[in-house]
Amino acid sequence: MTAPRPADEPLLRIERLSVRFFVRTSFFATRPIAAVSDVDLDIATGETVALVGESGSGKTTLGRATVHLVPISSGRIVFEGTDIGALDDRELRAFRQRAQVIFQDPFSSLSPYMRVGEIVEEPLVIHGPRSRAERSARVLAALEQVKLSPAAEFAETYPHTLSGGQRQRVSIARAMVLGPDYLVADEPVSMIDASSRAEILYLLKDLQAQRRLTFLYITHDLASARHFADRIAVMYAGRIVELAPAGQLVGEACHPYTKALLAAVPEPDPGNRLRQRAVVGGEPPDAGALPAGCAFHPRCPVAIAGTCERIIPPLVELGSGHQVACHLYPVGGGDGEGSVGSADGSATGDPWGDGLAEADSMTSSAARMPGSSDSG
Ligand code: SF4
Repeated sequence: MTAPRPADEPLLRIERLSVRFFVRTSFFATRPIAAVSDVDLDIATGETVALVGESGSGKTTLGRATVHLVPISSGRIVFEGTDIGALDDRELRAFRQRAQVIFQDPFSSLSPYMRVGEIVEEPLVIHGPRSRAERSARVLAALEQVKLSPAAEFAETYPHTLSGGQRQRVSIARAMVLGPDYLVADEPVSMIDASSRAEILYLLKDLQAQRRLTFLYITHDLASARHFADRIAVMYAGRIVELAPAGQLVGEACHPYTKALLAAVPEPDPGNRLRQRAVVGGEPPDAGALPAGCAFHPRCPVAIAGTCERIIPPLVELGSGHQVACHLYPVGGGDGEGSVGSADGSATGDPWGDGLAEADSMTSSAARMPGSSDSG
């Protein structure tokens, strides 16, 4: 874990990662659930990559797999050049000090029977110094770091006396107390007041700047991903369907599903309050019975008959780190099977433009997808 590595090597490399779960359907039978399929993703040191998608898209499972919290079925996760699946117990303990998680729910992730100081100290009891005085000093420093001040007073309180935003700061302090390099932030602001969300995201940004932290930011909220992340990966049915620098993904989205997510983002403009936003119809697919071909095809208003329901589209590089998995963007940009549009979508136009409005499968109800508070 400490061997020197090339300067251009990412901190974390996900290679062809698949995660399958088996659910019991009867006393004798189980069926596989494809939570994550064939994901490749690099994350550079100090970078923030956001994973965005609906509930059940696989983003939380992918995030947890990167910190060895769920078993992987195939592929590899390489942290600083080392396959974390090959670590022995001692190496795994060392890895856990460097890779931590901030969980979504600050109300259930903190024990109501423990004082804040004990909660933050817990990782140190497992991994940190034996000296109680040293542990206490690090707990107070972590609480100060997340701006829970005076730290000594907060350390003596119980979680139920704190606001949602303060509880999430305790969760962040617990994740930070071991001095990690890599943090998975799993919907860290989805369950706290709107007024505290920006504060928590700015706090995470500050910590990142101070410590050169690397973040995997899991969210259903494209707006916060745009402002918090360097790159955004959009997941659907366990696969990354689009990946791009954050501004480029929001400004020049290519995949019909990404466009649907963007179309459903509420706009803070009173002039638009009566405008109904088009959202994609249908439900996300059952991960135990994914549609053949592109899993989005039953909901896609521009699906290519004869191709999209048969062939899974590969992720294709469009340039500048922008990748998309859609048959509208064929491999090499030439006339491959299913080639009906150019890389800029000009042959088909904007799939969420007029075609969207006319598609029977669309509804004009409230923005359902980004509004979900569940983890994927
Ligand atoms: Fe739609 Fe086909 Fe592209 Fe899937 S591959 S998003 S079904 S056009």
